[in-house]
Amino acid sequence: MIKITLPDGSVKEFAAGITPMDVAKSISEGLARNVISAAFNGTTVETTTPLTTDGSLVLFTWNDEGGKKAFWHSTSHVMAQVLEEMFPGIKLTLGPAIANGFYYDVDFEEHKITDADFKKIEDRVLEISREKHEFKLRPVSKAEALEVYKDNVYKTELISNLEDGTITFCDHSNFTDLCRGGHIPNTGIIKAMKIMSVAGAYWRGDEKNKQLTRVYGISFPKQKDLTEYLELLEEAKRRDHRKLGKELELFAFSSKVGQGLPLWLPKGAALRDRLEQFLKRAQKKAGYEQVVTPHIGQKELYVTSGHYAKYGADSFQPINTPAEGEEFLLKPMNCPHHCEIFNVRPWSYKDLPKRYAEFGTVYRYEQSGELHGLTRVRGFTQDDAHIFCTPEQLDEEFKKVIDLVLYVFGSLGFENFTAQVSLRDQEDREKYIGSDENWEKAENAIINAAKDKGLNTVIEYGEAAFYGPKLDFMVKDALGRQWQLGTIQVDYNLPERFNLTYKGSDDQLHRPVMIHRAPFGSMERFIAILLEHTAGNFPLWLMPEQAIILSLSEKYEIYAKKVLDLLENHEIRALIDNRNETIGKKIRDAEMQKMPFMLIVGEEEEKNGTVSIRRHGQEGKGNVTVTIEEFATIVSEEINKTLKVFTV
Ligand SMILES: [Zn+2]
Ligand SMILES: [Zn+2]
Repeated sequence: MIKITLPDGSVKEFAAGITPMDVAKSISEGLARNVISAAFNGTTVETTTPLTTDGSLVLFTWNDEGGKKAFWHSTSHVMAQVLEEMFPGIKLTLGPAIANGFYYDVDFEEHKITDADFKKIEDRVLEISREKHEFKLRPVSKAEALEVYKDNVYKTELISNLEDGTITFCDHSNFTDLCRGGHIPNTGIIKAMKIMSVAGAYWRGDEKNKQLTRVYGISFPKQKDLTEYLELLEEAKRRDHRKLGKELELFAFSSKVGQGLPLWLPKGAALRDRLEQFLKRAQKKAGYEQVVTPHIGQKELYVTSGHYAKYGADSFQPINTPAEGEEFLLKPMNCPHHCEIFNVRPWSYKDLPKRYAEFGTVYRYEQSGELHGLTRVRGFTQDDAHIFCTPEQLDEEFKKVIDLVLYVFGSLGFENFTAQVSLRDQEDREKYIGSDENWEKAENAIINAAKDKGLNTVIEYGEAAFYGPKLDFMVKDALGRQWQLGTIQVDYNLPERFNLTYKGSDDQLHRPVMIHRAPFGSMERFIAILLEHTAGNFPLWLMPEQAIILSLSEKYEIYAKKVLDLLENHEIRALIDNRNETIGKKIRDAEMQKMPFMLIVGEEEEKNGTVSIRRHGQEGKGNVTVTIEEFATIVSEEINKTLKVFTV
């Protein structure tokens, strides 16, 4: 008998050789119908793999990431089968699942795949799928595998790197592929499939190798899921922050300035400033002090911090002074600078915690191919802060940071998030700096704080930074996509490296603990995500302009100006559209600019001292006529709904 531990912690005994599918059946027939993949002791297995030792088993359905991965990878087998059928003689290489769907890298030899082939491939994939072929994993010897693929240099290379005795083929229908596993039970559940695109891809990602064709696809258990997915993609295109950033005149890039270096236009700069002021106000209440540090630092500083050893060779190279032989690096991180601020004078335990905050701009080299709008850039500003505290204060400080992060998310309309606790890789501890004891202390502090704050938490092993464990907030946006936003990290390492000390109540010198935290992450990335989340309709308190006054004709210009002055008295950001255009045109343009309120003024309004309000995106709802005072109340009530006062 073997003992199988299930995710809920329950342990069941089974005869050795039981399969994950049989375990599912022993739980319920309903579950068994939905199970499409499984993991045993953290490794993906087939639902038909005999289990022969004690261990923990996770059963995946389509709703789990593990289920989707198996589903998509299995579809890549069927697609490969169809490609081989349609283009005889092509050479297959690798076909993994990715975040959304799968790809297969193919050497098409003399053939060429074009858009015109997609539909035919999709239809044939579904035709084969309907035949309900089982995926069967079969062990083969290395010699046999090499013989089968003697005409395929790519598979031969893959097989050569595998150990004899560990090699498996996967069979379905009349098709066989070299594969280590992770399949759904049979092709019958693949009900919708689409080829998304083809692109060039070098074998093994090395440009010295031959360029292959990467065929991207996605598949679903229901046609409806595919339709929804394609609609979501269309909506994502409409909300692309690069497109909205241009339309709303927030930021731009210039090839002269350099790629990956965003330029903030006046409206974007104002938006950034508003976000900064918002966070600064909350931070002030939470006991943070603002500091400012330079954009470069001596190479030695980053050698001390360990950043140079970790990133030096793969980042911007040192800047040399013309005469003194000094070497400087563009600042990749603010932390070393803040450590040196802490080191300026001696501290007593009574002075701690010290909380230094800086909107610090840092520079990190990214390959040009990796750059993407504001989400992958070479220069960006972190809403950074470092807290130096005693080990006894760590738990409390960590909780306070969580409170601040939750306040930020709440004010910006991010309600759907999970907290990912990133701990060390349990197998490979070599790659981390610092003692086991300190790591355990830090890991426990994070887990406890997350639990205490009632966060929806997932624990990921092996995802910690090299210098300490961390808590990342993973936010779901309006399109259901997941983004990593705010991060909080505990660090026992930098205080060692910078020899930071404080005098304890025992009159001895002690090491403070350091917390790195950035609720937004970076201003650039955060604004990009916020743009796509809100489609440019930011919370009212953050909108560049909250209202636009549209005069029915030039006759009402003076009244429009009077309205603007009154709004300014109420601290409402507004402007006037006085152009000699029709009211219809003015409204259309204001809608395009995503103006939250359009205030129409004409004869009636002037006579009564009112404005006629039209809300963005509420065409045909009819206008409401109110006094300026009433309008100001509407605005402040809406703002107060999202923007609460931060309290500690
Ligand atoms: Zn496979
Ligand atoms: Zn830091």
